Amino acid sequence: MLALHAHPDDEAIFTGITLRRLADAGARVVLVIATAGELGSSRVPLRTGETVRQRRIAELERSAELLGVSRLVLLGRRDSGLPGWSSGGHRHALAAADPLRLARRVSRIAAAEGAGTLVHDDEQGIYGHPDHRATYRIGATAARLTGATGYQMTVDREHLHLSARDAHLVHGAARAAAVGFGRTTVEISLAVTGTAEHLRIKRAAMTAHGSQIAPEDVPADGFVGAYGFEWFRRTDPGPGVLDALGNAHLVAGGLAAGVAS
Ligand SMILES: [Zn+2]
Repeated sequence: MLALHAHPDDEAIFTGITLRRLADAGARVVLVIATAGELGSSRVPLRTGETVRQRRIAELERSAELLGVSRLVLLGRRDSGLPGWSSGGHRHALAAADPLRLARRVSRIAAAEGAGTLVHDDEQGIYGHPDHRATYRIGATAARLTGATGYQMTVDREHLHLSARDAHLVHGAARAAAVGFGRTTVEISLAVTGTAEHLRIKRAAMTAHGSQIAPEDVPADGFVGAYGFEWFRRTDPGPGVLDALGNAHLVAGGLAAGVAS
């Protein structure tokens, strides 16, 4: 399978459990990251001469290792920044790239790997970030070009409202971008969850991105409420390997209802 993400850390935040479980089940997991997230300012001091780009790629490599990724590919586009930033017009910005050209590149990787499943952002870019919207266009087109089953990753905003309050990173990100985020529960076809060990690995992969995410940003208590599920909308043509992980959707609904009552 191939997972396409916009920035280092998205792979852990939105698909950490899913990638680890697929790797454990014997799938070859190919992770394609479109930008180095170089506009995310570092929350820790960099080493002398080190750039944010270098730091974030090193963090990504560690996260990929924790998640059982077999091959990591960087598309080498530039972070576009938040909606309205002039960086979105930079000639190397992902948001300014020709999506068809990048889709062809991703589909060549998928075809060479024999990937039957492709995971990418949903059409809203989860929370409207220009790079996440771009990876939707690229991923959806690449899935069509390769004939792979496409899964749009998203978040269940109703579930997060009930079980995470304001604790998921997407809450702050959506606020920064002044946009809505995610989908309602009924719009989601698949929810993937895992064991306590999968959650521990996901949290380790997220905090491997130490320039962006501090351990205290993702406290261990409350982690399951905010990050215990990963949500997808399946597009044609029919079930792919993610469906084999089992659908926790009903459990998620029950959990949310339990919290609400
Ligand atoms: Zn991102």
